[in-house]
Amino acid sequence: MDISDFPTRHNYGLGLWQNQIERILAGWVHELRVPIYYGIEVTGLAQDDTRVDVQLSDGQSLRADYLVGCDGGRSLIRKAAGIEFPGWDPTTSSLIAEVEMAEEPEWGIRRDAFGLHAFSRSEEGGRVRVLVTEQHVGPTTEPTLRDLSEALIAVYGTDYGIHSPTWISRFTDMTRQAAAYRDRRVLLAGDAAHVHAPDGGQGLQTGVQDAVNLGWKLAQVVNRTSPESLLDTYHAERHPVAARVLRNTMAQTVLLRPDERIEALRDTVSELLSMDEPRKRFAAMMSGLDIHYDLGEGHPLLGRRMPDLDLVTANGPLRVFTLLHDARPVLLNLDEPGGFDITPWADRVQSIDAKYVGTWELPTLGAVTAPTAVLIRPDGYVAWVGDLTQLGLHDALTTWFGPPTAA
Ligand SMILES: Cc1cc2nc3c(=O)[nH]c(=O)nc-3n(C[C@H](O)[C@H](O)[C@H](O)COP(=O)(O)OP(=O)(O)OC[C@H]3O[C@@H](n4cnc5c(N)ncnc54)[C@H](O)[C@@H]3O)c2cc1C
Repeated sequence: MDISDFPTRHNYGLGLWQNQIERILAGWVHELRVPIYYGIEVTGLAQDDTRVDVQLSDGQSLRADYLVGCDGGRSLIRKAAGIEFPGWDPTTSSLIAEVEMAEEPEWGIRRDAFGLHAFSRSEEGGRVRVLVTEQHVGPTTEPTLRDLSEALIAVYGTDYGIHSPTWISRFTDMTRQAAAYRDRRVLLAGDAAHVHAPDGGQGLQTGVQDAVNLGWKLAQVVNRTSPESLLDTYHAERHPVAARVLRNTMAQTVLLRPDERIEALRDTVSELLSMDEPRKRFAAMMSGLDIHYDLGEGHPLLGRRMPDLDLVTANGPLRVFTLLHDARPVLLNLDEPGGFDITPWADRVQSIDAKYVGTWELPTLGAVTAPTAVLIRPDGYVAWVGDLTQLGLHDALTTWFGPPTAA
Protein backbone atom coordinates (compact mmCIF):
# COMPACT_ATOMS: atom_id res chain seq x y z
CA MET A 1 0.00 0.00 0.00
CA ASP A 2 1.18 3.48 -0.88
CA ILE A 3 2.61 5.43 2.04
CA SER A 4 4.48 8.00 -0.03
CA ASP A 5 2.40 10.82 1.49
CA PHE A 6 3.11 9.74 5.08
CA PRO A 7 4.97 12.14 7.39
CA THR A 8 8.05 9.95 7.74
CA ARG A 9 11.52 10.01 6.23
CA HIS A 10 11.02 6.42 5.08
CA ASN A 11 7.70 6.64 3.24
CA TYR A 12 8.09 3.37 1.34
CA GLY A 13 8.17 -0.38 1.85
CA LEU A 14 11.69 -1.78 1.82
CA GLY A 15 12.13 -5.20 0.19
CA LEU A 16 15.14 -6.89 1.78
CA TRP A 17 15.70 -10.62 1.71
CA GLN A 18 15.70 -12.28 5.09
CA ASN A 19 19.33 -13.41 4.77
CA GLN A 20 20.35 -9.76 4.28
CA ILE A 21 18.31 -8.68 7.30
CA GLU A 22 19.89 -11.45 9.37
CA ARG A 23 23.37 -10.37 8.24
CA ILE A 24 22.68 -6.74 9.20
CA LEU A 25 21.23 -7.68 12.60
CA ALA A 26 24.04 -10.16 13.31
CA GLY A 27 26.58 -7.42 12.46
CA TRP A 28 24.95 -5.10 14.98
CA VAL A 29 24.83 -7.80 17.67
CA HIS A 30 28.52 -8.41 17.01
CA GLU A 31 29.27 -4.67 17.33
CA LEU A 32 27.54 -4.71 20.72
CA ARG A 33 29.79 -7.66 21.61
CA VAL A 34 26.89 -9.94 22.47
CA PRO A 35 27.98 -13.56 21.98
CA ILE A 36 25.90 -15.86 19.77
CA TYR A 37 26.39 -19.59 20.42
CA TYR A 38 25.75 -21.10 17.00
CA GLY A 39 24.87 -24.80 16.81
CA ILE A 40 23.71 -25.10 20.42
CA GLU A 41 20.04 -25.45 21.33
CA VAL A 42 18.14 -24.68 24.46
CA THR A 43 16.70 -27.98 25.71
CA GLY A 44 14.97 -26.87 28.90
CA LEU A 45 14.71 -24.28 31.62
CA ALA A 46 13.87 -23.87 35.28
CA GLN A 47 13.10 -20.62 37.04
CA ASP A 48 12.72 -19.58 40.65
CA ASP A 49 12.40 -16.24 42.44
CA THR A 50 15.96 -15.18 41.74
CA ARG A 51 17.12 -16.65 38.43
CA VAL A 52 16.55 -18.77 35.34
CA ASP A 53 18.66 -21.85 34.61
CA VAL A 54 18.84 -22.72 30.93
CA GLN A 55 19.86 -26.22 29.83
CA LEU A 56 21.77 -26.51 26.56
CA SER A 57 22.12 -29.33 24.05
CA ASP A 58 25.88 -29.59 24.67
CA GLY A 59 25.18 -30.59 28.26
CA GLN A 60 26.18 -27.19 29.69
CA SER A 61 23.81 -24.74 31.33
CA LEU A 62 23.52 -20.98 31.62
CA ARG A 63 22.22 -18.94 34.52
CA ALA A 64 20.53 -15.58 34.02
CA ASP A 65 18.34 -13.04 35.79
CA TYR A 66 15.90 -13.16 32.88
CA LEU A 67 15.42 -15.20 29.72
CA VAL A 68 13.79 -13.87 26.56
CA GLY A 69 12.44 -16.56 24.24
CA CYS A 70 13.03 -15.35 20.67
CA ASP A 71 13.04 -18.92 19.39
CA GLY A 72 10.32 -18.73 16.77
CA GLY A 73 6.78 -20.02 16.45
CA ARG A 74 7.52 -23.46 17.90
CA SER A 75 9.27 -21.83 20.85
CA LEU A 76 10.59 -24.37 23.32
CA ILE A 77 10.99 -21.57 25.83
CA ARG A 78 7.31 -20.66 25.59
CA LYS A 79 6.31 -24.29 26.07
CA ALA A 80 8.78 -24.87 28.92
CA ALA A 81 7.47 -21.77 30.68
CA GLY A 82 3.94 -23.19 30.35
CA ILE A 83 2.64 -20.20 28.43
CA GLU A 84 -0.50 -21.01 26.41
CA PHE A 85 -0.53 -20.27 22.66
CA PRO A 86 -4.20 -20.07 21.73
CA GLY A 87 -5.43 -19.35 18.22
CA TRP A 88 -6.40 -20.95 14.96
CA ASP A 89 -5.00 -23.96 13.08
CA PRO A 90 -3.79 -23.47 9.51
CA THR A 91 -6.20 -23.62 6.59
CA THR A 92 -3.55 -23.41 3.86
CA SER A 93 0.18 -24.03 3.48
CA SER A 94 2.81 -23.08 0.94
CA LEU A 95 6.35 -24.11 0.18
CA ILE A 96 9.04 -21.59 -0.64
CA ALA A 97 12.47 -22.62 -1.79
CA GLU A 98 15.55 -21.67 -3.73
CA VAL A 99 16.55 -24.45 -6.09
CA GLU A 100 18.19 -25.31 -9.38
CA MET A 101 16.07 -26.58 -12.27
CA ALA A 102 16.88 -28.73 -15.27
CA GLU A 103 14.15 -27.04 -17.33
CA GLU A 104 12.95 -23.45 -17.71
CA PRO A 105 9.86 -22.93 -15.50
CA GLU A 106 6.79 -20.80 -16.20
CA TRP A 107 8.12 -17.47 -14.85
CA GLY A 108 5.81 -15.16 -12.91
CA ILE A 109 2.67 -15.69 -10.90
CA ARG A 110 -0.08 -18.27 -11.49
CA ARG A 111 -3.31 -18.29 -9.52
CA ASP A 112 -5.61 -21.33 -9.53
CA ALA A 113 -8.05 -23.29 -7.36
CA PHE A 114 -5.27 -24.08 -4.80
CA GLY A 115 -4.04 -20.51 -4.50
CA LEU A 116 -0.98 -18.55 -5.59
CA HIS A 117 2.21 -19.96 -7.13
CA ALA A 118 5.27 -18.23 -8.55
CA PHE A 119 8.73 -18.66 -10.05
CA SER A 120 11.30 -15.89 -10.02
CA ARG A 121 15.02 -15.63 -10.74
CA SER A 122 17.28 -15.42 -7.72
CA GLU A 123 20.07 -12.86 -7.81
CA GLU A 124 22.50 -15.75 -7.21
CA GLY A 125 23.02 -16.67 -10.87
CA GLY A 126 21.01 -19.54 -12.28
CA ARG A 127 19.00 -20.34 -9.15
CA VAL A 128 15.23 -20.15 -9.01
CA ARG A 129 12.96 -18.98 -6.20
CA VAL A 130 9.78 -21.02 -5.98
CA LEU A 131 6.50 -20.40 -4.20
CA VAL A 132 3.84 -23.07 -4.44
CA THR A 133 0.59 -23.47 -2.51
CA GLU A 134 0.04 -27.05 -1.41
CA GLN A 135 -3.12 -28.97 -2.18
CA HIS A 136 -3.54 -29.89 1.48
CA VAL A 137 -2.10 -28.33 4.60
CA GLY A 138 1.38 -29.88 4.86
CA PRO A 139 2.79 -31.61 7.95
CA THR A 140 4.64 -29.59 10.61
CA THR A 141 7.86 -31.51 9.91
CA GLU A 142 10.66 -29.91 7.86
CA PRO A 143 9.68 -29.94 4.16
CA THR A 144 11.72 -32.04 1.72
CA LEU A 145 12.62 -31.78 -1.96
CA ARG A 146 10.09 -34.54 -2.55
CA ASP A 147 7.31 -32.43 -0.95
CA LEU A 148 8.25 -29.58 -3.26
CA SER A 149 8.35 -31.82 -6.30
CA GLU A 150 4.90 -33.25 -5.52
CA ALA A 151 3.40 -29.82 -4.92
CA LEU A 152 4.79 -28.52 -8.24
CA ILE A 153 3.54 -31.54 -10.19
CA ALA A 154 0.07 -31.04 -8.67
CA VAL A 155 -0.02 -27.47 -9.99
CA TYR A 156 2.17 -27.38 -13.12
CA GLY A 157 2.11 -31.07 -14.12
CA THR A 158 5.93 -31.12 -13.83
CA ASP A 159 8.60 -30.27 -11.25
CA TYR A 160 10.88 -28.86 -13.98
CA GLY A 161 13.66 -31.18 -12.81
CA ILE A 162 14.28 -29.36 -9.49
CA HIS A 163 17.43 -30.25 -7.63
CA SER A 164 20.12 -28.89 -5.29
CA PRO A 165 17.93 -26.74 -2.99
CA THR A 166 19.69 -24.00 -1.02
CA TRP A 167 16.72 -23.97 1.35
CA ILE A 168 13.11 -25.13 1.45
CA SER A 169 10.60 -23.91 3.96
CA ARG A 170 6.88 -24.24 4.60
CA PHE A 171 4.65 -21.49 5.89
CA THR A 172 0.98 -21.52 6.76
CA ASP A 173 -1.74 -19.18 7.91
CA MET A 174 -1.67 -20.64 11.42
CA THR A 175 -2.62 -17.77 13.70
CA ARG A 176 -1.74 -17.90 17.37
CA GLN A 177 -0.65 -15.55 20.12
CA ALA A 178 0.94 -16.20 23.48
CA ALA A 179 -1.64 -15.68 26.22
CA ALA A 180 1.04 -13.88 28.26
CA TYR A 181 4.30 -12.33 27.08
CA ARG A 182 5.82 -12.86 30.51
CA ASP A 183 5.88 -15.59 33.08
CA ARG A 184 7.92 -14.24 35.99
CA ARG A 185 11.55 -14.30 34.69
CA VAL A 186 10.76 -15.60 31.22
CA LEU A 187 9.59 -13.27 28.44
CA LEU A 188 8.69 -13.88 24.82
CA ALA A 189 9.33 -11.79 21.71
CA GLY A 190 8.86 -12.21 17.97
CA ASP A 191 7.32 -15.32 16.47
CA ALA A 192 7.62 -17.05 19.84
CA ALA A 193 4.88 -14.64 20.94
CA HIS A 194 2.79 -14.48 17.75
CA VAL A 195 2.46 -16.34 14.47
CA HIS A 196 0.26 -15.49 11.50
CA ALA A 197 0.20 -15.59 7.72
CA PRO A 198 3.05 -13.58 6.17
CA ASP A 199 0.68 -11.40 4.12
CA GLY A 200 1.52 -7.76 4.43
CA GLY A 201 5.06 -8.45 5.69
CA GLN A 202 4.33 -7.64 9.31
CA GLY A 203 5.92 -10.49 11.25
CA LEU A 204 9.50 -9.39 11.46
CA GLN A 205 8.71 -5.74 12.11
CA THR A 206 6.31 -6.69 14.90
CA GLY A 207 8.96 -8.96 16.44
CA VAL A 208 11.74 -6.39 16.18
CA GLN A 209 9.49 -3.79 17.78
CA ASP A 210 8.69 -6.23 20.60
CA ALA A 211 12.41 -6.47 21.23
CA VAL A 212 12.88 -2.70 21.08
CA ASN A 213 9.99 -2.20 23.50
CA LEU A 214 11.39 -4.80 25.89
CA GLY A 215 15.15 -4.17 25.62
CA TRP A 216 15.44 -0.90 27.53
CA LYS A 217 12.88 -1.95 30.14
CA LEU A 218 14.75 -5.16 30.83
CA ALA A 219 18.07 -3.30 30.98
CA GLN A 220 16.66 -0.91 33.58
CA VAL A 221 15.26 -3.75 35.68
CA VAL A 222 18.49 -5.75 35.47
CA ASN A 223 20.51 -2.62 36.41
CA ARG A 224 18.08 -2.06 39.31
CA THR A 225 17.14 1.37 37.94
CA SER A 226 13.48 0.43 37.73
CA PRO A 227 11.28 -1.98 39.66
CA GLU A 228 10.31 -5.31 38.12
CA SER A 229 6.77 -4.04 37.53
CA LEU A 230 8.10 -2.08 34.54
CA LEU A 231 8.25 -5.42 32.71
CA ASP A 232 4.48 -5.75 32.94
CA THR A 233 4.10 -2.80 30.59
CA TYR A 234 5.72 -4.98 27.92
CA HIS A 235 2.73 -7.32 27.62
CA ALA A 236 0.29 -4.45 28.15
CA GLU A 237 1.77 -2.50 25.22
CA ARG A 238 2.82 -5.20 22.78
CA HIS A 239 0.08 -7.83 23.09
CA PRO A 240 -2.61 -5.57 21.57
CA VAL A 241 -0.28 -4.63 18.69
CA ALA A 242 0.22 -8.26 17.60
CA ALA A 243 -3.46 -9.05 18.21
CA ARG A 244 -4.25 -6.46 15.58
CA VAL A 245 -1.71 -7.99 13.17
CA LEU A 246 -3.32 -11.40 13.71
CA ARG A 247 -6.71 -9.94 12.89
CA ASN A 248 -5.62 -8.19 9.69
CA THR A 249 -3.60 -11.17 8.40
CA MET A 250 -6.57 -13.49 8.97
CA ALA A 251 -8.69 -11.12 6.94
CA GLN A 252 -6.06 -10.96 4.18
CA THR A 253 -5.82 -14.76 3.99
CA VAL A 254 -9.53 -14.99 3.43
CA LEU A 255 -9.35 -12.32 0.72
CA LEU A 256 -6.75 -14.38 -1.14
CA ARG A 257 -8.93 -17.50 -1.32
CA PRO A 258 -9.66 -18.63 -4.86
CA ASP A 259 -13.44 -18.34 -4.88
CA GLU A 260 -15.56 -16.07 -7.04
CA ARG A 261 -17.51 -14.63 -4.13
CA ILE A 262 -14.27 -13.88 -2.31
CA GLU A 263 -12.98 -12.32 -5.51
CA ALA A 264 -15.97 -9.98 -5.44
CA LEU A 265 -15.11 -9.13 -1.83
CA ARG A 266 -11.44 -8.62 -2.80
CA ASP A 267 -12.47 -6.16 -5.53
CA THR A 268 -14.72 -4.34 -3.08
CA VAL A 269 -11.94 -4.05 -0.49
CA SER A 270 -9.49 -2.91 -3.20
CA GLU A 271 -11.93 -0.21 -4.20
CA LEU A 272 -12.26 0.92 -0.60
CA LEU A 273 -8.50 0.99 -0.18
CA SER A 274 -8.10 3.12 -3.26
CA MET A 275 -9.82 5.91 -1.30
CA ASP A 276 -7.47 8.11 0.65
CA GLU A 277 -8.86 7.79 4.15
CA PRO A 278 -9.13 3.95 4.28
CA ARG A 279 -5.77 3.57 2.53
CA LYS A 280 -4.07 5.83 5.06
CA ARG A 281 -5.66 4.05 7.97
CA PHE A 282 -4.77 0.54 6.83
CA ALA A 283 -1.32 1.48 5.55
CA ALA A 284 -0.54 3.13 8.89
CA MET A 285 -1.65 -0.02 10.69
CA MET A 286 0.30 -2.40 8.47
CA SER A 287 3.46 -0.30 8.55
CA GLY A 288 3.17 -0.02 12.34
CA LEU A 289 3.36 3.78 12.07
CA ASP A 290 0.07 4.30 13.88
CA ILE A 291 0.93 2.38 17.04
CA HIS A 292 -0.53 4.09 20.09
CA TYR A 293 0.34 2.76 23.53
CA ASP A 294 -2.29 3.61 26.09
CA LEU A 295 -0.45 6.03 28.38
CA GLY A 296 -3.60 7.85 29.42
CA GLU A 297 -5.36 10.98 28.28
CA GLY A 298 -3.48 13.95 26.91
CA HIS A 299 -1.77 15.37 23.85
CA PRO A 300 -2.11 13.16 20.73
CA LEU A 301 1.64 12.50 20.84
CA LEU A 302 1.40 10.72 24.18
CA GLY A 303 2.07 7.00 23.63
CA ARG A 304 2.80 7.58 19.94
CA ARG A 305 6.01 7.39 17.95
CA MET A 306 8.00 10.62 18.11
CA PRO A 307 8.47 12.12 14.62
CA ASP A 308 12.07 12.39 13.42
CA LEU A 309 12.13 16.19 13.35
CA ASP A 310 14.95 18.44 12.17
CA LEU A 311 15.82 20.41 15.29
CA VAL A 312 18.11 23.36 15.73
CA THR A 313 20.27 23.43 18.85
CA ALA A 314 22.98 25.75 20.16
CA ASN A 315 25.46 23.27 18.63
CA GLY A 316 23.79 23.23 15.22
CA PRO A 317 21.17 21.11 13.45
CA LEU A 318 20.15 17.81 15.01
CA ARG A 319 17.72 15.05 14.04
CA VAL A 320 15.55 13.70 16.85
CA PHE A 321 16.35 10.07 16.04
CA THR A 322 20.08 10.76 16.37
CA LEU A 323 19.35 11.41 20.04
CA LEU A 324 17.96 7.89 20.34
CA HIS A 325 21.04 6.09 19.04
CA ASP A 326 22.38 5.58 22.55
CA ALA A 327 19.05 4.02 23.61
CA ARG A 328 18.71 6.58 26.40
CA PRO A 329 15.58 8.62 27.17
CA VAL A 330 15.43 12.26 26.07
CA LEU A 331 13.68 15.27 27.56
CA LEU A 332 13.30 17.61 24.62
CA ASN A 333 12.66 21.22 25.62
CA LEU A 334 11.43 23.39 22.77
CA ASP A 335 10.76 26.40 25.01
CA GLU A 336 13.18 28.75 26.80
CA PRO A 337 16.58 27.04 27.14
CA GLY A 338 17.38 25.82 30.64
CA GLY A 339 13.71 25.79 31.66
CA PHE A 340 13.77 22.23 33.03
CA ASP A 341 15.60 20.82 35.99
CA ILE A 342 15.76 17.04 36.02
CA THR A 343 18.98 16.72 38.03
CA PRO A 344 17.72 13.65 39.99
CA TRP A 345 17.43 11.78 36.65
CA ALA A 346 20.44 13.36 34.91
CA ASP A 347 22.37 10.09 35.16
CA ARG A 348 19.73 8.41 32.95
CA VAL A 349 17.89 11.02 30.92
CA GLN A 350 19.40 13.34 28.31
CA SER A 351 18.04 16.88 28.50
CA ILE A 352 18.13 18.79 25.23
CA ASP A 353 17.17 22.39 24.51
CA ALA A 354 16.21 22.91 20.89
CA LYS A 355 14.01 24.83 18.48
CA TYR A 356 11.68 23.43 15.85
CA VAL A 357 9.85 25.64 13.40
CA GLY A 358 7.98 23.15 11.16
CA THR A 359 4.57 21.55 11.56
CA TRP A 360 3.90 18.53 13.75
CA GLU A 361 2.25 15.86 11.67
CA LEU A 362 1.46 12.29 12.68
CA PRO A 363 0.44 9.37 10.46
CA THR A 364 -3.38 9.15 10.12
CA LEU A 365 -3.93 11.97 12.65
CA GLY A 366 -2.43 14.71 10.50
CA ALA A 367 -1.32 18.00 12.05
CA VAL A 368 -1.30 18.21 15.85
CA THR A 369 -0.65 21.13 18.21
CA ALA A 370 3.04 21.81 18.66
CA PRO A 371 4.09 20.69 22.15
CA THR A 372 6.45 22.72 24.32
CA ALA A 373 8.31 19.75 25.70
CA VAL A 374 8.29 15.98 25.25
CA LEU A 375 9.84 13.10 27.12
CA ILE A 376 10.89 10.40 24.68
CA ARG A 377 11.51 6.80 25.73
CA PRO A 378 14.50 4.90 24.31
CA ASP A 379 12.13 3.06 21.94
CA GLY A 380 11.09 6.38 20.39
CA TYR A 381 7.62 6.58 21.97
CA VAL A 382 6.49 9.69 23.81
CA ALA A 383 6.09 9.18 27.57
CA TRP A 384 5.06 12.72 28.54
CA VAL A 385 4.01 15.96 26.83
CA GLY A 386 3.95 19.20 28.78
CA ASP A 387 5.45 22.59 29.36
CA LEU A 388 7.68 24.50 31.75
CA THR A 389 5.20 24.03 34.60
CA GLN A 390 6.53 20.43 34.52
CA LEU A 391 3.12 19.15 35.55
CA GLY A 392 3.31 15.34 35.66
CA LEU A 393 6.94 15.24 34.52
CA HIS A 394 8.43 13.80 37.71
CA ASP A 395 5.76 11.09 37.80
CA ALA A 396 6.46 10.17 34.18
CA LEU A 397 10.23 10.11 34.81
CA THR A 398 9.72 7.86 37.85
CA THR A 399 7.27 5.56 36.06
CA TRP A 400 9.48 5.03 33.04
CA PHE A 401 13.03 5.62 34.21
CA GLY A 402 13.00 4.83 37.91
CA PRO A 403 12.90 6.86 41.11
CA PRO A 404 14.98 10.06 41.46
CA THR A 405 18.55 9.75 42.63
CA ALA A 406 18.98 11.20 46.11
CA ALA A 407 20.91 14.51 46.11
C1 LIG B 1 7.22 -16.59 3.39
C2 LIG B 1 7.38 -15.60 4.49
C3 LIG B 1 7.52 -14.25 4.16
C4 LIG B 1 7.66 -13.32 5.17
N1 LIG B 1 7.78 -12.01 4.82
C5 LIG B 1 7.90 -11.08 5.77
C6 LIG B 1 8.03 -9.71 5.43
O1 LIG B 1 8.03 -9.35 4.25
N2 LIG B 1 8.15 -8.80 6.43
C7 LIG B 1 8.12 -9.17 7.75
O2 LIG B 1 8.20 -8.29 8.63
N3 LIG B 1 8.02 -10.47 8.12
C8 LIG B 1 7.90 -11.43 7.16
N4 LIG B 1 7.79 -12.74 7.50
C9 LIG B 1 7.78 -13.12 8.92
C10 LIG B 1 9.19 -13.20 9.48
O3 LIG B 1 9.99 -14.05 8.71
C11 LIG B 1 9.11 -13.72 10.93
O4 LIG B 1 8.15 -13.00 11.64
C12 LIG B 1 10.48 -13.55 11.60
O5 LIG B 1 11.47 -14.29 10.94
C13 LIG B 1 10.39 -14.02 13.05
O6 LIG B 1 11.63 -13.82 13.64
P1 LIG B 1 11.96 -14.50 15.02
O7 LIG B 1 13.40 -14.16 15.29
O8 LIG B 1 10.95 -14.15 16.04
O9 LIG B 1 11.81 -16.08 14.77
P2 LIG B 1 12.61 -17.01 13.75
O10 LIG B 1 12.96 -16.26 12.51
O11 LIG B 1 11.80 -18.25 13.65
O12 LIG B 1 13.96 -17.29 14.51
C14 LIG B 1 14.00 -18.14 15.65
C15 LIG B 1 15.43 -18.56 15.87
O13 LIG B 1 15.50 -19.32 17.07
C16 LIG B 1 16.26 -20.48 16.83
N5 LIG B 1 15.78 -21.53 17.74
C17 LIG B 1 14.60 -22.19 17.72
N6 LIG B 1 14.52 -23.06 18.74
C18 LIG B 1 15.68 -22.94 19.44
C19 LIG B 1 16.19 -23.58 20.61
N7 LIG B 1 15.51 -24.51 21.27
N8 LIG B 1 17.43 -23.21 21.04
C20 LIG B 1 18.14 -22.24 20.39
N9 LIG B 1 17.69 -21.60 19.29
C21 LIG B 1 16.48 -21.96 18.82
C22 LIG B 1 16.02 -20.84 15.37
O14 LIG B 1 17.08 -21.63 14.89
C23 LIG B 1 16.00 -19.45 14.75
O15 LIG B 1 17.29 -19.00 14.46
C24 LIG B 1 7.66 -13.71 6.53
C25 LIG B 1 7.54 -15.07 6.85
C26 LIG B 1 7.40 -16.00 5.85
C27 LIG B 1 7.27 -17.45 6.20
